[in-house]
Amino acid sequence: MPALFVGHGSPMNAIEDNRWSRALRALSTRLERPRSVLAVSAHWFVEGTRITGHPRPPTIHDFGGFPRALHEVLYPAPGDPALADRARSLLGDRVALDDRRGLDHGVWSVLIHLFPQADVPVVQLSLDERLTPREHYQVARPLRSLGDEGVLLLASGNVTHNLGYAMRRHAEGDDSIPDWASRFDEAVKRACAGRDGDALARLLETEDGRMAQPSPDHYLPLLYAAATADERDEASFPIEGFDWGSLSMRSVLFRTQANRRL
Ligand code: ZN
Repeated sequence: MPALFVGHGSPMNAIEDNRWSRALRALSTRLERPRSVLAVSAHWFVEGTRITGHPRPPTIHDFGGFPRALHEVLYPAPGDPALADRARSLLGDRVALDDRRGLDHGVWSVLIHLFPQADVPVVQLSLDERLTPREHYQVARPLRSLGDEGVLLLASGNVTHNLGYAMRRHAEGDDSIPDWASRFDEAVKRACAGRDGDALARLLETEDGRMAQPSPDHYLPLLYAAATADERDEASFPIEGFDWGSLSMRSVLFRTQANRRL
């Protein structure tokens, strides 16, 4: 199974027919159907590594100020408690089972396009806010074997995510792409293409990295996709571009040539 990082952007992409939702639909036709999905999202950034054990994970509407239609979206994919147990056996004592937590919008706003029937079971893993990028990469490594067991590792964030900057510029009517955003996005692309985990873990410490990610939550999921990809996997970039000027919508697909359909 491939490992996939998706730039999720605005929650509205879940229900709008736009460039990004169409690109995700197109990407869905290139993915083989997994047995289950193990998801990591920017929006479960907490103290500790936790995993959902709910057999019917609720849809969490973890945002405000959006239309009622978005709050009414349900993504009723089943959970997969056996996969949660399997992931815990790989990750060890650091992982706590959470029986109540559902799926946040970083997960369902993407899955609603990738698997619109909501018939692929989903388990979500949290991001431990206390860890460094390098430690996140190391935490994720043991999950690599899940790909051979038919599990798709789906990571959801954004390569650049400075929301304060984006909203300020957007309010001024300026949706141009700033240099720091395109430089950082390109540096991430190069590190992914070179399968350079060290570089990916270090990029946040650069000047562009601090501008691109004032908080690391939207970047860290990428480390999970890169760390769990098979050594033979090559990175491709099925979705590229910026929304709101500075918000990179880049997606990264790590997949071996032999498994490629296209
Ligand atoms: Zn987000």
